[in-house]
Amino acid sequence: MTTENKTTNTPTKPAKAQALTAVKGMNDLLPPASAQWEWLEDKVRGLMARHAYHNLRTPIVEPTALFVRGLGEVTDIVEKEMYSFEDRLNGEQLTLRPEATAGVVRAVVEHNMLYNGGQRLYYMGPMFRHERPQRGRYRQFHQIGAEALGFPGAEVDAELILLAATLWQELGLQDVRLELNSLGQPNERAAHRAALIAHLEAHADVLDEEAKRRLHTNPLRILDTKNPAMQSVVEAAPKLIDFLGEASLAHFNAVKAILDASGVAYRINPRLVRGMDYYNLTVFEFVTDRLGSQGTICGGGRYDYLIEQVGGKPAPAVGWALGVERVLELLKEQGTLPEATGPDVYAIVPDAAALPVVFKTIQTLRAQGVSVQMHAGAGEGMGSMKSQFKKADGSGAQFALIFGGDELARGEVTLKSLRDGAGAQEALPLADVTVRVAAKLALGVVSSQSVA
Ligand code: ATP
Ligand code: MG
Repeated sequence: MTTENKTTNTPTKPAKAQALTAVKGMNDLLPPASAQWEWLEDKVRGLMARHAYHNLRTPIVEPTALFVRGLGEVTDIVEKEMYSFEDRLNGEQLTLRPEATAGVVRAVVEHNMLYNGGQRLYYMGPMFRHERPQRGRYRQFHQIGAEALGFPGAEVDAELILLAATLWQELGLQDVRLELNSLGQPNERAAHRAALIAHLEAHADVLDEEAKRRLHTNPLRILDTKNPAMQSVVEAAPKLIDFLGEASLAHFNAVKAILDASGVAYRINPRLVRGMDYYNLTVFEFVTDRLGSQGTICGGGRYDYLIEQVGGKPAPAVGWALGVERVLELLKEQGTLPEATGPDVYAIVPDAAALPVVFKTIQTLRAQGVSVQMHAGAGEGMGSMKSQFKKADGSGAQFALIFGGDELARGEVTLKSLRDGAGAQEALPLADVTVRVAAKLALGVVSSQSVA
């Protein structure tokens, strides 16, 4: 019977299409969590404005060559984490940006932005890396970054580190510590590299496959290994700091002096090398122990040679990037993420006939900065008062503003408190609604006496 059914020619409904889901490791950001992102972004915008850093927005897609040249061929990102593809129409090799510094540098060079001195810039946005998704590690994640280009001095390194430290303070982040190192200059690194390779070769028996592969391409990155079996060799390795010349040391000391004077604590971590090849002199990370192995919330440093590498006139630069998901996760872990709040006012509309007055009134309220959620009918008409009040409560609003027919006929509306002193209500002349509601919200009180 069933087979017969299947072969009949009677038109049947098409099979229900299977629902599509987001790409693995890439997340939708829904309310109310999205409000917490906006809260963070607002804090950052305010802070950047107070430091005279300006917003730069670059494309999410860049030529693949930008990252290969900028980040270095033998880096985790370029070797295995990039979303690269060929443009089907013109064959261009493109990549979803895995980080934003290279794009910032490209834009700064392309628009000749350093012709008249330095630039202090910041960005926010999604980055893409093909990694194993886990808590604090995603394939589409978000960074906020700050970059100062065209400034050689240690004071700008310090300014950027202090900027990040101030952000933690203003967000109420706890248990974040600063790790600091200096990578010196290329010639100093070359001398260190030779000594390092000799040391690692002398202990070739304990090196893992990855380390062996990197021994002659990028031995510095071996110091970053998480392999427990290699820890003692790595710890005994020659330290770059012992190879730094006078100028590099002076730069490092100047950064430290400003941090000391500003009361910002740090730990020198001689093994801090960072994932990209472009860094020199100062490098730093802000880390926490509260997020497991995804404990780096922000990393950065000086990259005086990147601009030239990307084809610009040589100019120094320094910057950092923070991981938005990790910062928010840490706040959540602490229990100090701000709760999402409801609107100030929920407009209850017993009868659709009142809608013209409702719109007029709530538009003036909104123009004064009061947030208003208007009741919308779910079926025929506006719905019962009971269901409207239920919605008003569920919205988290402070007040319900009731546009009842009788009150409107008297030129009034009713304002009812839904939170503090819930139930208290009073009639307000329509003409005064905006002033009275704004005053109540500013005072945060419901009693009618407080609004003389
Ligand atoms: P990690 O060592 O954790 O892989 P990274 O050194 O690759 O970090 P950077 O390239 O310095 O990270 O990026 C700056 C910040 O961006 C990191 O400190 C982290 O907070 C965040 N970040 C990096 N990769 C991811 C990711 N895949 N998912 C979420 N956040 C990330
Ligand atoms: Mg990484």
